[in-house]
Amino acid sequence: MVTENVLWSAPTCLPTEMACSNLERAGRVLQLNPDVIAYLSAPRKIITVSVPVRRDRGGVSVFVGHRVQHCDILGPFKGGVRYHPSVTVQEVTNLAMLMTWKCALLGLPYGGAKGGVAVNPQELSVGELERLTRRYTSELIKDIGPQVDIPAPDVGTSAREMAWIMDTYSMQQGHAVPGVVTGKPLTIGGSLGREQATGRGVMMVVREELKTQGQHLEGATIAIQGLGNVGGTAALLLAQAGARIIAVSDSSGGYYRAEGLDIPQLLDYRREHRTLAGYTLAQPLSNEALLTLPCDVLIPAALENQIDGPLASRIQARVVVEGANGPVTMAGDAMLEARGIRVVPDILANAGGVLVSYLEWVQGLSFLFWDEARVNGELEKLLTRAYHQVRVLAEEQVVSLRLSAYMLGVGRVATAFQSRGLYP
Ligand code: GLU
Repeated sequence: MVTENVLWSAPTCLPTEMACSNLERAGRVLQLNPDVIAYLSAPRKIITVSVPVRRDRGGVSVFVGHRVQHCDILGPFKGGVRYHPSVTVQEVTNLAMLMTWKCALLGLPYGGAKGGVAVNPQELSVGELERLTRRYTSELIKDIGPQVDIPAPDVGTSAREMAWIMDTYSMQQGHAVPGVVTGKPLTIGGSLGREQATGRGVMMVVREELKTQGQHLEGATIAIQGLGNVGGTAALLLAQAGARIIAVSDSSGGYYRAEGLDIPQLLDYRREHRTLAGYTLAQPLSNEALLTLPCDVLIPAALENQIDGPLASRIQARVVVEGANGPVTMAGDAMLEARGIRVVPDILANAGGVLVSYLEWVQGLSFLFWDEARVNGELEKLLTRAYHQVRVLAEEQVVSLRLSAYMLGVGRVATAFQSRGLYP
């Protein structure tokens, strides 16, 4: 391959420096050929579509949707679809790249992708959301499929949206194709354990990391930013395992109780009111105060770029476990590393979701469905194995857990690229 080895850049400068810098760092340590790094820095395909939606009140609103397919060297593209007002093609590209390393790190036969629509789903009715999802799917109909690209839930989407995607795709094919999405409802081929998988994985990784440090979950103090699918499930499972969840937050703000919050009751309140606003059994605190609380483990499980350099200089947790994708900025990461605060990176910490997506896909392809204990057992085995691979390599190479995780993920993709060769 003859290139000038410059990192790929589209008119909008994709992907960002942060996404590429971890790839470059891993590539340097692994002594990869710069051609390989240049190849891996460019997404294979970026698709941007307009998504017109007929509104209930009359008229049409036009939203913008994206699907970015980063790399399919190891298998079909795989990754979630997010509905959030801040979605941009650049964000989706970075997240697609993360999915490539996450799947490779876990040993899954997938490449990375991500999709998103810039929309606030809370401002749309269920009918409008269904029309949006179906139109977005049909715009991508030639680019997705069980052997091509397999969407899943992400921020702002759930099993409900996956069912609409599956139905829209299946209607075009003329027969049911459950394998086109994962994270779908059980009634149409979903897997037991998938909904809780990301949060369950976060709990397992927290447990293993504390064990590494000679500590147990029992009595450990934990603060969690974000109470969506990931943060909410992690809070519940960690509390059940005996950890003391001293603070949580949602978009209405943070809530603190030194003795530990009653998580089942708090989640019931949030389910009922759709927000924690008005929850009186805890002390309110700001987002920043939550992130800088003294505690054993801080779990940012909301959105990207929550912990920048200045904030990282004030974090008092001993360990940061990234429930969200990309919650720590590059400067934040450097600051935490300099301060000796361990960071369990997103591509490992939240990989339980895509791992059980893979188990769902396998069950569907083999028409044989497992009980929940088997699903959770496989998750436990594969995720803890990946954690310890990352930990051991980090110890051997004296590098951060993030760099170690990237070395494993990027290394596997690069080796596969070398075996397959460049077409033509
Ligand atoms: N959206 C999740 C992630 O970021 C899950 C992706 C999947 O299951 O394909 O890992």
